[in-house]
Amino acid sequence: NQTLAELDPEIAAVLDGELTRQRETLEMIASENFVPPAVLQAQGSVLTNKYAEGYPGRRYYGGCEQVDIAENLAIERATSLFGAAYANVQPHSGAQANAAVLHALINPGDKILGLSLPHGGHLTHGMKINFSGKLYDVAAYGVDEQSHRIEMDAVRAAALEHRPKVIIAGWSAYPRQLDFAAFREIADEVGAYLWTDMAHFAGLVAADLHPSPVPHSDVVSSTVHKTLGGPRSGFLLARDKEAFGKKLDSAVFPGQQGGPLMHVVAAKAVAFKVAATEEFRDRQRRTVEGAQIIAERLSAPEVRDAGVSLVTGGTDVHLVLVDLRSSTLDGQQAEDLLHSAGITVNRNAVPFDPRPPRVTSGLRVGTPALASRGFGAAEFAEVADIIATTLVEGSGTDVEAMRGRVKALTDGFPLYPGLQQ
Ligand code: PLP
Repeated sequence: NQTLAELDPEIAAVLDGELTRQRETLEMIASENFVPPAVLQAQGSVLTNKYAEGYPGRRYYGGCEQVDIAENLAIERATSLFGAAYANVQPHSGAQANAAVLHALINPGDKILGLSLPHGGHLTHGMKINFSGKLYDVAAYGVDEQSHRIEMDAVRAAALEHRPKVIIAGWSAYPRQLDFAAFREIADEVGAYLWTDMAHFAGLVAADLHPSPVPHSDVVSSTVHKTLGGPRSGFLLARDKEAFGKKLDSAVFPGQQGGPLMHVVAAKAVAFKVAATEEFRDRQRRTVEGAQIIAERLSAPEVRDAGVSLVTGGTDVHLVLVDLRSSTLDGQQAEDLLHSAGITVNRNAVPFDPRPPRVTSGLRVGTPALASRGFGAAEFAEVADIIATTLVEGSGTDVEAMRGRVKALTDGFPLYPGLQQ
C-alpha cells in the first residue's frame, strides 16, 4: 500500500517534473491536448486490472459486468456524437485502429492510395517501413505545387491511374478541410472503399466546425487524444453496421489486439460525454479562432520579409504549417528557439521540402491544448506575437523577454489547479 513516491521515487519525480513542464510552458504540438481531470481519474483506475477479450455480452472472461457497462456507454456516446451506426472503441491507438481498417477491408498485396507522407499524410497511410507500406501496395497523391492544397482533380487522376482498393482521406499535417463528397465520388468511380482517418480534426467534427466524413466514408478511424481531448487511444466508426461492423470488430479483436484496455475505454466514454457539451463546442471554437489569429499574425509584412510564410496561406483547422524554406532558420533551429522561449511545437516537413526529415523547413503549430487551458482571442494574439517576434528575430531573439511573456500567460491560466501527481 505504498504511495508511488514511497515505492518508486524516480518515477514519481518524472510525473512531478512533467506536470511542472506542462504547467510552465505553452503546449502547441498540434496532436496534443490536456484531458479533463475526470479522464485522468477513469484512466488511472482499477479497470486496468480487468481482462475483457471479446465484446460486451460476448466476452472470453468472467466478471465483465461492470466493464461491459463502460464499453456500451463509450459505443453509444461515440455513435451518437458522430451520427454513426457502428463504433468500435477498443483500438489501443490511432495506428492500431488504422491497422484494423486495412485488415478488415482488403488483403495483403492489395493497392491503397493515400496522401503522401512528406505532403502531410500519416505513417499508417503507406509509409515504406510502416506495416501499411510493407503489407500493401502503396500509391500516393500529393498536394499541388503552387496552392499546396489537395486538388481533387489530382486525386481522381491518381485513383484512375492506380485503381486502388482503398482510398484514404485524412492527414497529420495539412491546414485545410477535405472535400469528402468528392472523395466519395472518386472512390465510387474506381470501385474503392473510402476510409477517412479523422484523427486530427475529430474534435472539430464533433463540434460541427468541420464537415463530417461519416456520411461519405465506408469506415472512419480516429484517435481520441488530439482535438477530441480524451485519453491516448483510437476508435472506429461506420455508417453501415451490416456491411462493416462484424469485419471491423474481428479485425480489432482478435485480428490486431488481445484484451482491451478497459481503463482507457472508460476514459473514452467520459471524453465522448464531454465532447457533446456546449463547453466543448466553445473550446473547439477557440481552438480554430486561435489558429486563425496565429495565421494572421504570421502573415504580417515583417514576418514575410524574414522569409516566413504559411503553407496554403492560412488555416481552416486547429493548426498552421509554417514554411521556413526562405528563412535563415530551419525547422530544427526554429523548434529549438521556441523551446528555449517556453513554447513547445514540432518541426515538420513542408511540401517539396529540400531539407531531410530530421531537420525540415517547417513548423507545425497547434492550438487545442491552449484552448483547453482556457485561452481565448486575447491570449492567442499574445502567443502569436511571441512566435512571430521570435521567428523574425531568429538567433538575435531576447529569449529571456519571451520567457517572461510566456510565464505571464501560463500564470494567468493555471493547469490542473490542486492536482498533485
Ligand atoms: N492517424 C493520424 C492522421 C495521425 O496524425 C496519427 C498520429 O499522429 C495517427 C493516426 C496515429 O495515432 P497514434 O499515435 O495513437 O498511433
